[in-house]
Amino acid sequence: MSAVIDSLPEISAVEPSSAASRAGLLPGDRIVSVNGVSPRDILEWHRLVESDVVDLQVARGRESLDLVVERLPGEPFGASVSSAVFDRIHTCDNHCEFCFIYQLPKGMRQSLYLKDDDYRLSFLFGNFTTLTRFTEADLERVLDERLSPLYVSIHAVDPNVRSEMLRNNRGGFSLRWLRLMLDNGINARAQIVLCPGVNDGDILDSTLCGLLEQFPELESIAIVPLGLSRYNPESRMRVHTPEEAAQTISRQLRLRNLGGIIIIDFIDMQSEDHKKQVLTALQRNLDKDHAKTKITEVSALGLVEMTRKRTRESLEHILCEPCSTCGGRGVLKTSESICLEIFREIIRVVRQYNVQQIMVLASEQVVEMLLDEEADMLAELESFLNIGIKIRAEAEYNQEHYDVVLL
Ligand code: SF4
Repeated sequence: MSAVIDSLPEISAVEPSSAASRAGLLPGDRIVSVNGVSPRDILEWHRLVESDVVDLQVARGRESLDLVVERLPGEPFGASVSSAVFDRIHTCDNHCEFCFIYQLPKGMRQSLYLKDDDYRLSFLFGNFTTLTRFTEADLERVLDERLSPLYVSIHAVDPNVRSEMLRNNRGGFSLRWLRLMLDNGINARAQIVLCPGVNDGDILDSTLCGLLEQFPELESIAIVPLGLSRYNPESRMRVHTPEEAAQTISRQLRLRNLGGIIIIDFIDMQSEDHKKQVLTALQRNLDKDHAKTKITEVSALGLVEMTRKRTRESLEHILCEPCSTCGGRGVLKTSESICLEIFREIIRVVRQYNVQQIMVLASEQVVEMLLDEEADMLAELESFLNIGIKIRAEAEYNQEHYDVVLL
């Protein structure tokens, strides 16, 4: 399934007395091009309307108009567009048994059935992407425009389990894109939809170990128990039993050695019997815990409060502190990607301020690259922006540290 939102983005609002309003832009105008470029999405739109003078070609009814928006220094553009993606949303070509879209009743609004798997919606709204439709060009854009953080559905790191869960062979190797993004300093947050009998138990353990081993830079990993509606068409899918839920919770408490006051949210648990079963199973499992624990009844809001007295700090916590160079990530951006960041920063600074000379302060490795492999690019920038760029190595700067100074 694919969705064409609209080929032309539409202006949804124009602020009174703003630069856009002075130029004559009106709500309902459709944008054909901005400075000669047809923006593909709201990210590109924002980048294009950043300049001080913006040439717009708009369609108003059957008319085609050319408008020039001139912004005063620091003045916002003053108009917004009505959708986030103007070309085609990348739709998902997976067929997960647990997909919430397949569990919707028939006859609802068409847009509710849209299965998106688009990194842009991931960056903008936190939608999860499986990366099965991700391409080299997408990677280039994510790195170029620093679209970070992104939200990635993992479900399992074992390629067979993952491709089986997504019912898509590409699921077995699409996490390579995640590795490439993390290598280049893009942050990512992961989720695992936990399906009983499919990716829980030993598979969940090996997924978590695999994530720590292969993707240690992930900012977070959320484990989401499978949600089922009465429209679920897949016989293999079932909800967790109270015993399984209680076992998983107590196991996670022990593994992560969580301490203090912990609130467990048993959402949507209606039946009193069900609540009692979960509490009994939880208590039974917590009895095996070496740490001292205490749990309360399920509150009216479905919350269980518990305390757990931690018996030890993790060894890593006692013996180590985060690395002052990489901030604990364990990786540094390459000199090449820092050079690209510096070029973007120079362009940004020159567009914002009226400068003739710029000094770039950076680590020795980065300066070496700027003066050698990137020397042509540097010269092109100088002539394109009509400025002088001086470069100075700072011995105490680490590889990621740089400053662009106006002279
Ligand atoms: S990736 Fe998401 S949208 Fe696509 S089928 Fe799976 S659950 Fe549904």
